[in-house]
Amino acid sequence: MVPWTVSSRQCNVCKIETALRKNDLHLCSGCRLVRYCGSQHQRLDWEIHKPFCVAVKQIIKERKVSHILELQGPITSWTQFDRAVTLAKFVLISILGRELERHEVEFLSFPIHCEICFTRGDKNFISCSKCNAVSYCNEEHQKQDQDNHSKWCNYLYVYYNFYEVENCTIDLDFEEAPIFDSESVPDDLFTLIETTAKLGKDQTISRFPKTLVEYQSYAAVCTFSCVATILDGIFMSNLIIDDNDVLTIYIIGALNEDQFLQLPHCAFLSSQLPTIKTFNFYLIGPEVDTSEPITFSVRTHKRDNKININFCGETFENFAQNIHSSAELEKMPHMIVAFNCGFYENAGKPTDTWKPGIKAFFQFDRIPILFTSYTLLESRLDLREFSVCANELGRKYKIIVNTEESFYRDYRPFRNMELIDRDDLVYFQNGYMQLVIIESKG
Ligand SMILES: [Zn+2]
Ligand SMILES: [Zn+2]
Ligand SMILES: [Zn+2]
Ligand SMILES: [Zn+2]
Repeated sequence: MVPWTVSSRQCNVCKIETALRKNDLHLCSGCRLVRYCGSQHQRLDWEIHKPFCVAVKQIIKERKVSHILELQGPITSWTQFDRAVTLAKFVLISILGRELERHEVEFLSFPIHCEICFTRGDKNFISCSKCNAVSYCNEEHQKQDQDNHSKWCNYLYVYYNFYEVENCTIDLDFEEAPIFDSESVPDDLFTLIETTAKLGKDQTISRFPKTLVEYQSYAAVCTFSCVATILDGIFMSNLIIDDNDVLTIYIIGALNEDQFLQLPHCAFLSSQLPTIKTFNFYLIGPEVDTSEPITFSVRTHKRDNKININFCGETFENFAQNIHSSAELEKMPHMIVAFNCGFYENAGKPTDTWKPGIKAFFQFDRIPILFTSYTLLESRLDLREFSVCANELGRKYKIIVNTEESFYRDYRPFRNMELIDRDDLVYFQNGYMQLVIIESKG
């Protein structure tokens, strides 16, 4: 699969970008959101684009406005812009009777407009020459936005370029890796992996890659975010894996976390935990496809260590109940993890599927529970949701890490399409970390 991102500045078919200061892509005259390099690619895309385009056109006509983002009049502030995008998405979803595709959300959320005065269009617009992700109606407005944009420019540049892992171009041999402890462990993902994998100086991984090779190295390092976060949780909670050489970790609300538990990731974790000979991961959640466990071994500390990955396609509350009623002690966890958890997302709504799962945590007292969130705001809301559940159950817990920016966040940026927080124009997987330990009952 060739990875690519979509953008209002690209031909929707061949992904050719708008040349700077010029307008050689033409705008779809129906929806006035999507661009093409020429009529040939517009025709090619029509079958896919048609329902969306027709829906936009219908709304524009019915509401007698000139653009889908002007249903409530012209935009003059970010608040109005956010509202306009939310309203446009809402109306489109109800007309189309389906969720919007990612590229459709991108076109709506990041149209070509002046970042300062919200004038729309692209004729004679100036784009940032580095990221080509923002535009201005004139040089003065570009200047005005310089300070703010410079915080995000590099991330936007990375976002709009390839950053998936196709082939890992760096040698990730962890067999002879230096072993860190909680005192000596580097406080960012790149240094941690660079040092552990003993990469030479000439292989230093660029935080803002420019070539495909650099992107792949960068992406490869970023995939260590989950295991590095687990390691951090083990250190931060002073987890003592006491009486045996087995480490059991539940990953709940799991989606595709097994892609972060491939051989190099497990070898890294194993390299840092010399006493552990067997690692048991349980991926638990209704979206997990129940399938046969995956078992392999990683060579560290001059021996072969065993990795078992179990897939449990059920809710955590069901899983927890079965574990307790069957008293399968070997399945009891040393740590429970929820990556990018979103506990708060449906709180208080009938669709709140997390609450019973969060309450099931309280069957595992004195076990570190680590959860991560994309943004600072979300991390606070997620922790609040946890505390609401604790209160309802009349239970106490100790906070070890309180919504802190994670050292080991994934550095591949996502653009914040939800617009919930202008302080996070981009966000990162495992961006913030919470670590709690539930106290024993009574
Ligand atoms: Zn094209
Ligand atoms: Zn269109
Ligand atoms: Zn302007
Ligand atoms: Zn830029």
